[in-house]
Amino acid sequence: MTRSNPIVAIYPGSFDPLTRGHEDIARRTLRVADRLIVAVAHTSTTQKRGLFSVEERVELIRKVFEDEDRIEVESFEGLLVDFARGRGAHFVIRGLRAISDFEYELQMAQMNQELWREIETIFLVPDVEFSFLSSSLVREVAALGGDVSRFVSPAVLEAMKERFGG
Ligand code: ADP
Repeated sequence: MTRSNPIVAIYPGSFDPLTRGHEDIARRTLRVADRLIVAVAHTSTTQKRGLFSVEERVELIRKVFEDEDRIEVESFEGLLVDFARGRGAHFVIRGLRAISDFEYELQMAQMNQELWREIETIFLVPDVEFSFLSSSLVREVAALGGDVSRFVSPAVLEAMKERFGG
């Protein structure tokens, strides 16, 4: 898609690590948007330490999407709507895997609308093959020595192997 006023979408999340489900959502977004910014959140409100640092996640996601020049990767702190406004993005992309995602996603979308009237949230559904996938499950399986090669890209797999000393 090319138009004088490009549609810029933003896909926020923790991405610790990026899974094939996230990848699917990001690539699907390019069917409805001209450019996508994958935005890795510095979740200062939660004290959980992740598997990868935010900088490592950004680097990994860049590697995974190096074939796709319409996808950029950045990290952000603070409110998503402020970051989106600063980047000229009016569309937030979120993935819906199951009904269990719905309540939280709906609340967040409505809160974002309260914070910035011009923001729209678009929900995309992944291929059914990925609907059971989450970063936390992938981390858990890998930490216990399970094979996660079907669930993440080779670059992510490599980094996880290093992290878990495999
Ligand atoms: P957050 O901490 O914001 O939930 P995540 O990185 O876990 O960040 O997820 C970011 C977004 O991607 C969320 O909208 C989530 O529902 C979606 N998502 C996560 N895993 C998948 C998947 N396997 N298929 C589709 N969407 C997914």
